[in-house]
Amino acid sequence: MDHMEEQIQQIYKENGISGKILDLGNEVLEGLAPRFAAIDRIAEYNQLKVIGAMHKNRVSESHFAASTGYGYNDDGRDTLEKVYADTFHTEDALVRMQITCGTHALALALSANLHPGDELLSPTGAPYDTLEEVIGIRPSAGSLAEYGVTYRQVDLLPDGSFDYEGIRRAIGPNTRMAEIQRSRGYSRRPSYSAEQIGELIHFLKSIKPDLICMVDNCYGEFVETKEPSDFGADMIVGSLIKNPGGGLAPSGGYICGTHECVDRCARRLTSPGLGREVGANLGTNPAFYQGFFLAPTVTASAEKGAIFAASLYEKLGFTCYPESAAPRYDIIQAIDMGSPENLIAFCKGIQAAAPVDSFLTPEPWDMPGYDDEVIMAAGAFVQGSSIELSADGPLRAPYTVFFQGGITWYHAKYGILMSAQQIADTGRLPDVKGV
Ligand SMILES: *Cc1c(COP(=O)(O)O)cnc(C)c1O
Repeated sequence: MDHMEEQIQQIYKENGISGKILDLGNEVLEGLAPRFAAIDRIAEYNQLKVIGAMHKNRVSESHFAASTGYGYNDDGRDTLEKVYADTFHTEDALVRMQITCGTHALALALSANLHPGDELLSPTGAPYDTLEEVIGIRPSAGSLAEYGVTYRQVDLLPDGSFDYEGIRRAIGPNTRMAEIQRSRGYSRRPSYSAEQIGELIHFLKSIKPDLICMVDNCYGEFVETKEPSDFGADMIVGSLIKNPGGGLAPSGGYICGTHECVDRCARRLTSPGLGREVGANLGTNPAFYQGFFLAPTVTASAEKGAIFAASLYEKLGFTCYPESAAPRYDIIQAIDMGSPENLIAFCKGIQAAAPVDSFLTPEPWDMPGYDDEVIMAAGAFVQGSSIELSADGPLRAPYTVFFQGGITWYHAKYGILMSAQQIADTGRLPDVKGV
């Protein structure tokens, strides 16, 4: 062992990782070099894509100024929207701190572009949980259903592919918009590549050319060199406390797409007649710009963490979704922990490795809206940020933990090692020699 390696061993030890767990991690890492190199290439490409868009729009220090009140003539805000639009190759973009989260951005994109009598189609099965009340799948005041927008869903085929025949049958005269979810979210279904989504969009538009295709792009940004907007999506929508905020954006959401769709979103967000002209940035511009600048490498770090976690836990005999070797189109990793003790230990490890609130111990609790108790680990600089290292899962068999984020790869690595350490400390890794 060379001197640097000794130092690294030592500092891991000082931070709670045993030599055995570290060795296990290093063994797993040896096989991942080509994979990580491929991720770095994508990050390099995307870094240049973002910088190119910043150059084209002549981003300058003056764009970082805070605006207040109505926020008229906020050149920094407007230029940032052009940077997003040019990066994602769309006509237009709305990037606002007033969009409070991903669910809000999605609700905005839907409600701004659907009228009473229109039908919304989900061709990718059940949408993300929080959209159930937005759409009115679960009755809710203010839902689209309440405003006379109907909903139809085509479930995925058992192998996770699109049910093209079912989709064809589901499209009727009132079908106005399709909502396509890129990421697996908190389910077992696969995530889709931008290209796969493009095939679906092509099929949808071949049946109904004026159908608006909106993609829930949460967790997918910068994982590939292309986005669904490169393959015909009319809108892509996401949260700034996930990938595109780069860990720095303190709040916010984005909608990129055609001018017509995005303009309607602006009018719904503020008001008809005001649209995008109002909306003070309240000092968030520097974080939005810098976060977007960092987003390609931050996303790469999170993706490396996900692959490392899958590889390490597969080696320990756990089932992972996606499998470690599978291609990835988002940054989420699900692992069946097999027992409540393992799930809790995993989350304790992630918490113990966090830069913030590392001294707290996560406990299962009855979260409103969930049937089972849920355990969550997060020690984030931004509340609820899931581009930062975080994990959660319901206390229900097979005790799946959903793990995502990691603003730096080294932190992600440390968190995963710490999760394994916690499980090892409970004496529950009997199958692995020497752990
Ligand atoms: C996170 C997420 C959302 C909702 O975003 P919030 O910011 O949590 O409201 C929607 N869809 C998917 C696929 C997500 O991952």
